[in-house]
Amino acid sequence: MSSADPLTRGEKRKLTRLRSDLLDWAKENGRTFPWRFADASTYERIVVEVLLQRTTASAVASFYPAFVDRFSSWESLAAASADELEIFLKPLGLWRRRAASLLGLARYAAAVSGEFPRGAASHAEIPAVGQYVSNAISMFQHGEATPLLDVNMARVIERFVRPRKLADIRYDPWLQAAAHWLVRGESPERVNWSVLDFAALICKARTPLCHSCPVSSRCRYFQVEVRSRSRK
Ligand code: SF4
Repeated sequence: MSSADPLTRGEKRKLTRLRSDLLDWAKENGRTFPWRFADASTYERIVVEVLLQRTTASAVASFYPAFVDRFSSWESLAAASADELEIFLKPLGLWRRRAASLLGLARYAAAVSGEFPRGAASHAEIPAVGQYVSNAISMFQHGEATPLLDVNMARVIERFVRPRKLADIRYDPWLQAAAHWLVRGESPERVNWSVLDFAALICKARTPLCHSCPVSSRCRYFQVEVRSRSRK
């Protein structure tokens, strides 16, 4: 490990294998959502990431068709009034905050014809764009292998490899490096979706299904927590 590289060689090997195992797992078990269809636009893929914050994918899935029907582009979203958008977003909760975020993002996007600039530093000036949405823009618009790193992806990585040191996942250098390593290479969208599906269906927050988990033999949490508990 170089001093600039937070990951050990062993951690990289574990994460590389995890990527391939989760891609295999997702072929049979991954979830299907309309924003993942091959014909979903870049607009749909980015805007849904704002909708998905602080709510479940199934809640967004039932709301999404009506949303993209009414707001089919950055331009139509940017032209909405705050009142109209808030009423539309009520079923998802946090509607005022979501409406403000979406309007800020849409007005910026419409002004640049939907062509967001490349690079996290240039996203800092875009209203309502934090690290998560910046990564979504980098991946869905520019094809970069960036992680959709939220508490769910963090949970999988930390259980499987080791816990992070800092409370805020955005600033933990080890976790950031691990998440980027996990999604690097081809098809970063598919890898990201596989990890998020695995977090939702198997490596759940409260009750992980460790005994039916396809990667348990290499999982730190399983070896340290689950096995040692069952030996007591
Ligand atoms: S063994 Fe348990 S904790 Fe480890 S990855 Fe699988 S579900 Fe998550």
